Formats: sequence, structure tokens, C-alpha cells
Amino acid sequence: MTLDSLSRDQLDAFLAEQQQAYADLQQAGLKLDITRGKPSSDQLDLSEGLLTTPVEAHVSGGVDVRNYGGGTGLTELREIFAELLGVPVGQLLAGNNASLSMMHDSIVFAMLHGVPGGSAPWKDGPVKFLAPAPGYDRHFAICEHLGIEMIPVEMREDGPDMEAVRAHVADPAVKGIWIVPTYSNPTGAVVSEQVAAELASLETAADDFRIYWDNAYAVHDLTEEHAKSADILGLCSAAGHPDRPLMFASTSKITLAGSGVSFLAGSPDNIAWYLSHTAIRTIGPDKVNQLRHAQFLGSPQGVLDLMARHREILAPKFDTVLRILSERLGPHEVATWTTPKGGYFVSLDVVDGTASRVVQLAKEAGISLTPAGASFPYGKDPRDRNIRIAPSFPPLQELTLAMEGLATCVLLAAAEKAASA
Ligand code: PMP
Repeated sequence: MTLDSLSRDQLDAFLAEQQQAYADLQQAGLKLDITRGKPSSDQLDLSEGLLTTPVEAHVSGGVDVRNYGGGTGLTELREIFAELLGVPVGQLLAGNNASLSMMHDSIVFAMLHGVPGGSAPWKDGPVKFLAPAPGYDRHFAICEHLGIEMIPVEMREDGPDMEAVRAHVADPAVKGIWIVPTYSNPTGAVVSEQVAAELASLETAADDFRIYWDNAYAVHDLTEEHAKSADILGLCSAAGHPDRPLMFASTSKITLAGSGVSFLAGSPDNIAWYLSHTAIRTIGPDKVNQLRHAQFLGSPQGVLDLMARHREILAPKFDTVLRILSERLGPHEVATWTTPKGGYFVSLDVVDGTASRVVQLAKEAGISLTPAGASFPYGKDPRDRNIRIAPSFPPLQELTLAMEGLATCVLLAAAEKAASA
């Protein structure tokens, strides 16, 4: 029964019922955390071989991996990921752990030194980025940290609202856009070929406009289906803007989240530009880890086989989240949520104006959720309705308890709002 259809007495009774359910929840003394999209220890165990298999040869492509040098990263590993990411090997760099550092650094380099095709360092003028929202909070944190103004645009099922994007890129201060093309964080959206082609051919006032194409979940399917990412490098080249995209990826959610390998792909000019700056800050990446990864993963198929094993662990967790949402919240029509086919998150929209209340109620019942608004620039969700659910880390039993508790909090917050109207 929807809350709108209840009489005053029925609504008071419903509120009392939810208050009692919440009191019971608090009594349970839970201590649960579904805040961040970290792999579980079962998932990390899948890559135990990385730590126990000896690195076979030390010399790779004439480079002793134990030594300095080799700024582009090891060819063996770049070959595997070039195929998975659909980019030429020569245009793909392998780095250290954390593609987030590559994103951060590439923006810092642009701010301080400018980019190919640009006439001045970005810091010389106002810099704005388009921030499809809901989106990844750490992208937004980079912008905020560097004083880049973010302009929210709506993230839809097939990518950002292109009408809004087109209107904003008429401003020469708009230098970039964040895109998570496949299984986006947090909605699981996949950018369509058409939207990717539009982004590639967009007329922008800034001639050094960049697409930060963060393909963090390129091979992270939750079903047997694979959503192939659009070929942003090819599309941009064909549209006459070869330097527009910078693509990022990593093995963080393939092997070990804290000890993986990151990747950056771009035009030959962008790659040379990036290397010219990283050569100042490092004498080369961790090639021992890259060689371990190449030997452990073996081939593109080796990566896909490993991802299938992740799926076996992750899919039941996502199924549990979706089942509880639909059983507990569905009948009352107090929320909508995404049903992702990959990635690490479920995006939950509760009754407008109640997300912060839900997060607070959950906290007071021992359930940690990502702060309300985290998926929006400056942490401000204009409708205060979005909550990001990260099912991967807790064991299934804890996740079940956390989701049942969350559902109780969503219902109580919705009932409180309806009763006070
Ligand atoms: N991009 C997105 C969209 C992510 O969700 C995450 C991890 N939460 C990252 C990047 C982080 O990647 P890395 O570990 O390579 O820094």
C-alpha cells in the first residue's frame, strides 16, 4: 500500500509500526558498514597467486624489472589490457597502483603546464568541469581540491544529459567532463555509442577540452552479458579531436585493490605529454608488480576468467540487495533503485528530502552508509534523495542485516515525512 493512499489514522498506525521496527533495530546493537566499494577478502583471495608465484624472468623487453626506468610500463601487461580496453598498445601506459593518481596528476599537469592543443596552463584562467551526477565522489574531490568549479549535469541511463552538456561547453572555461562509461559509479549506467559519438564530436569553446573517460569497471560484469565500452579514442580521432579523451583503468577490482596496476590511454601526443611530466616525478613505475600481474593473469582471457570468479562472489550480494529493496520498499512506493548489470554499486533514491535522515537513522542503529549527497558535486544532492549502496565488502549475512536495517530506516523516514505533511 502506498503512503499517499493512507488515511490519517492509517498513516499514524504505519508510523508507529516503523518506529517500533526501528526501536527493535537499535536494540540489535549492529555494527555494519556498507559505505565503500571495496572488494571482500574472498575476492582478494582469488589473487593470492600474485603473492605466492615467483616472478619468473627479471628481464622483460630489455628492461630489468627490478631497476629504474621503463616509464611506459611493461609491454606484456600493456598487451593484455590494450586488447581488453580496445586501444593500441603503443597508446597505453601501465603505472603504479591507483588510476585515481593518474587522473589527479593529469589534471594537475594541465593546470600547471597546459595540454596539447591548448594555448595556456589551465590555472591562468577560470576552470570548470562538467560533473555528471550522481557520479564518483573522488572525481569530484579532485576538482574541489584543485579549485575547479563543477557544473552538475544529470547522469542518465545512456550517459550524461547531452543537451545540458552542449549548452555548457559553449563556455570556454569548461575544460573537461568526467565520464565513467561502463557500469558507472553509482548508477551502473553504460554510456551508449550514440552519446559517446556526440561527446567525441561536440563543438566546444575550449580548444583543449578533455573527456576524463574513467573505465574503472570495463570488465566488471555481474551477468553473463558483457557491455562493451564505446571506442572513445577511435570516435574522437574520427571526429577530428584525437587529443580530447584520456582513458583510465586499473586492476584494483580485478586483482588487489591496494596493490594493482593502473592504465592510461590517449592519443600519441597526450601520451608523450603525460610521460614528459611523469618523468620529472618518477624514474619509472613498479615493474616487478607489473610483471607479476602479466604472469598471473596470462592473457585477456585470463582476466575474463578471473572476473567470472569475482562475479560468482558478487552476484549473490547484489541479488540480496535488490531482493530486500523490492520486498521491503516496493509495496510502499517510497523508493526507486538501479538494477546494475555490472560495477560495484546500487543507487537508491528514497523519498525527496529524506536521504540525510535515512543515513542518520542508520548510523544511530549501527549501520554506516555513504554520506547522503556524496555522489553529487560538493556533496550536495539538490533533492536529498540519493544513497549509494556498496554490497561488495561485507559477508552476505552482514549485508542482509544491513539492508534489512536500511529498509527500516527508509520506511521510517518516509513515514515521518508523510505524517508531518
Ligand atoms: N574510478 C571509479 C569510477 C571508481 O569507482 C574507483 C574505485 N572506487 C576508482 C576509479 C579507483 O580506482 P583506482 O583504485 O585505480 O585508483
